[in-house]
Amino acid sequence: MIKNADPRLVEAWQKIEDARDAYANELKAVQEGCEHLLVAHWKGDGSDPYRICLNCRFEEKGSHWSFNVNHWKAADHTPSLLGTSPERLIFEVGRSEIFKLRVPTYTIQNS
Ligand SMILES: [Zn+2]
Repeated sequence: MIKNADPRLVEAWQKIEDARDAYANELKAVQEGCEHLLVAHWKGDGSDPYRICLNCRFEEKGSHWSFNVNHWKAADHTPSLLGTSPERLIFEVGRSEIFKLRVPTYTIQNS
């Protein structure tokens, strides 16, 4: 939020915040409606492994024991949405590929 500035700047900044909110709402809706059937898996190479849904880009960090593609537990021990299951196709990718799949996330500012 820009305050006490030229009204054009305040208005332009508000448009940015509104667009971020619209994006955040769409991302949330897409991710909540996705079955996460195509997932990229990075084994972590010594750090925590990562999985990202190729459709909605929902991502999870796995426990350090989850480097094996056939075993997955979320690092924070919450129920996993990207776990290994028969209907889910999981593709192993490298570090540079997994982080290129990430999308920006924003906290909704205006309600
Ligand atoms: Zn998904």
